[in-house]
Parts: sequence; structure tokens; C-alpha cells
Amino acid sequence: MKTCTKCGEEKGLNEFHRCRGKKDGRHGHCKPCRCTATLAYAQTTRGRATRRTRREARRLTARGRATNLHRNTKCRAKKKGICFNLGKDWIEIRMLAGYCEITGVEFDFTAATGPFSPSIDRVESGGGYTEENCRVVCWVLNAAMNDWGLDPVLKLARALLEQQK
Ligand SMILES: [Zn+2]
Repeated sequence: MKTCTKCGEEKGLNEFHRCRGKKDGRHGHCKPCRCTATLAYAQTTRGRATRRTRREARRLTARGRATNLHRNTKCRAKKKGICFNLGKDWIEIRMLAGYCEITGVEFDFTAATGPFSPSIDRVESGGGYTEENCRVVCWVLNAAMNDWGLDPVLKLARALLEQQK
């Protein structure tokens, strides 16, 4: 048994989170007290800033980015009633590769949704989010292809290049 230094209640050891720095290996405050404090901190300006910083840091790693992309795409698929069975690993491998699968342009991980942020494109736009029907491309290309696919974008790109000459 151990007494919580916050609420003063005596509780079993497993009512306290593990904490390496402490003599008995447990946190001084009990789990409910810690939980209340964590939730309260999250509501403060500083707590919100901390969460934002962590969220932004996560966006920059391949694993973190894959998690975000997986969650967001799955959510969008569910809303539209589209089948989704992409694995997080499948996305992470493509985040690690770091390049758009169609243009070869390097992904920009700093923005949440910038023109060169990674996005998941369905090859058959009416098909599902399956590993066979998907590829990871930059946002600007995905937006330009819309439901029309690559051909109109190629035509547009050639015309643009001609005009720039
Ligand atoms: Zn307590």
C-alpha cells in the first residue's frame, strides 16, 4: 500500500503509475489524480501548445506521418463508404522512400497539406483504398488528377512548358 501525496488516500501499488526515478518505482500521485492533472493541463494554453508541438514533431517522422495519413485516409474512406484496407506499414515504407511515386519529386513533410506533402491516390478512382489500387503521390498532382487520372495532367504540363519557353 502507498499513500497518494495529492489526494492523501491509501491505495494498492498498482493504483500508481510506474516511474523509474522513484525509490519504489511508482509515481507519488495515484492514477486518478494524475489523470485529472493531465486533462487539466491539456486545457491550458501551455498544454495546448505542448500538444501542438508534439503533433508537429510527429508529422516530420516517417512513422508519425504514416500514422496521420493512415488515420485521415481511413476516416475519409469511412465517410464516403469506400473500402479501406491499407496497412500502416505499407504507408510507412513509402514515407521512408520519401518521393512521389509518379513524379519522383521529394516529399515535403513540414506542412500538413502543402503542394508536395504526401497523399494517397487511388489508381482507379472508383476503386477502394487497397494496396493494389493505391500509390502515394504529392498533393498537387493528386489534386490536379482529380478523377480524370494522369493524361490530362500530362497534356497540361506539356502546354505549360511550351508557354514558359
Ligand atoms: Zn490521488
